[in-house]
Amino acid sequence: MKTMTTSGGAPIADNQNSITAGPRGPVMLQDYQLIEKLAHQNRERIPERVVHAKGWGAYGTLTVTEDLTDYTCAEIFSEIGKQTPLLTRFSTVAGELGAADAERDVRGFAIKFYTGQGNWDLVGNNTPVFFIRDPLKFPDFIRTQKRHPRTNLRSPEAMWDFWSLSPESLHQVTILMSDRGLPQSPMQMNGYGSHTFSFWNKKGERFWVKFHFKTRQGHAHYTNAQSAEIIGQSRETYQEALFGAIERGDFPKWTMYVQIMSEAKAGKTPYNPFDLTKVWPHADYPLIKVGEMELNRNPDNYFAEIEQAAFSPSNVVPGLGFSPDKVLQARLFAYADAHRYRIGTHYEALPVNAPKCPVHHYHKDGSMRFFQNGDNNPDAYYEPNSFGGPNQDEAYREPPLALSGDVERHNHRDGNDDYVQPRALFELFDTGQRERLFSNIAAAMEGVSDEIVQRQLVHFGKIHPDYAEGVSTALGLGAVRKCA
Ligand code: NDP
Repeated sequence: MKTMTTSGGAPIADNQNSITAGPRGPVMLQDYQLIEKLAHQNRERIPERVVHAKGWGAYGTLTVTEDLTDYTCAEIFSEIGKQTPLLTRFSTVAGELGAADAERDVRGFAIKFYTGQGNWDLVGNNTPVFFIRDPLKFPDFIRTQKRHPRTNLRSPEAMWDFWSLSPESLHQVTILMSDRGLPQSPMQMNGYGSHTFSFWNKKGERFWVKFHFKTRQGHAHYTNAQSAEIIGQSRETYQEALFGAIERGDFPKWTMYVQIMSEAKAGKTPYNPFDLTKVWPHADYPLIKVGEMELNRNPDNYFAEIEQAAFSPSNVVPGLGFSPDKVLQARLFAYADAHRYRIGTHYEALPVNAPKCPVHHYHKDGSMRFFQNGDNNPDAYYEPNSFGGPNQDEAYREPPLALSGDVERHNHRDGNDDYVQPRALFELFDTGQRERLFSNIAAAMEGVSDEIVQRQLVHFGKIHPDYAEGVSTALGLGAVRKCA
């Protein structure tokens, strides 16, 4: 049997009784064991994520089944049959750490691939698009999803006010209010990288790429009525489902695909291919199969491995690159910055975040510095040096991004059509899907001011007259009013 110790390693003789002056007397300040225990408990939480606070995660493997080497020299795609270990974290966006799992919301779908040339983090969602296309609007958007400063309640008024003033949100709002806005578990939804990224190959050619993970479990969703009942019974249905399936050996799988666009084609699409509110239609850019993702191992310590898991789109590896997508560009800063704040300077050295390949950098010091720079070479603590420290390697240079244009606050709404793609989606829905879309929107609009409702109905009408008509009827407003 192991002897319990203090965190300083000293054996503990009594973990049941505090030190007091006599059996009924006050506790002594010298009871450091008690003080240490309480002090640790006070520090058991780190700040929860401002967004995507509630999450569920597991480890797994990506197995490549197709040859992608014409497009990318990334080590992860270097040969058919290649397997790469990974960590996933799924999440809701708006709810806090204790929120119920089965709430209508977009789901985060983040994957950390521990590749042989560093970690690649694909930090996406279960939807191929997002509510905004300019990152300057992100904090405002999130504010509308969180609590009202006075009531401390979620505010449908704020949500629909913002959405009705931001028509670029229509595509994502339509997905959110459709059946796919409330999956039954993380296993029954697709994942998308959402942004456009790039591939580059050994010849130095660049291709634009979008990533898709299609569920092999099939899509399954709750209606609002079902979720109300489910949440009444358990607030942790996603954790129960994902953790339980993996414990049973019932490993969930997704098929990974990419869409590829040449640099030449990117200038000719009728939409901006770097706009986060747009998809690339499959008919123009068919899905190309890549491989299979399987989740097969639960974390042993939820806090250490999922709460402290730190994903950032800035983590790419040779053969993969970014795109001019404005929201992606902002996330390259914001995600790593959030981790430095909530976990600490050296968050990437924690076991769950640490690459499985060697790491050689010259960052120094800072709180919780618990690792060496490696190689037992204390003189090589700056670069360049004459003491055999790690050097740059020209072989990994990324081909240049050919970008041009005036530096300006360009109006992100100019030349954008916010209605065509939501219309394509609406036209995919059968009668039942449309009816549920209308009633979900009507439920989400409960209590919202008439002026805001009318403004939003005008947008729905521009997507499709039946869309506005259906929502108006579900709201009990009858025929759509004529608005400018
Ligand atoms: P396609 O008919 O080729 O593809 C339709 C896509 O829509 C499929 O990927 C399907 O996913 C998905 N889908 C089906 N039902 C829903 C739903 N209720 N909510 C969200 N997605 C759904 O058409 P296009 O490629 O021309 O796209 C048409 C519209 O489909 C787009 O405007 C977009 O809204 C939506 N879509 C398109 C995607 C793309 O990358 N092109 C990806 C996802 C959605 P599945 O195969 O898993 O059933």
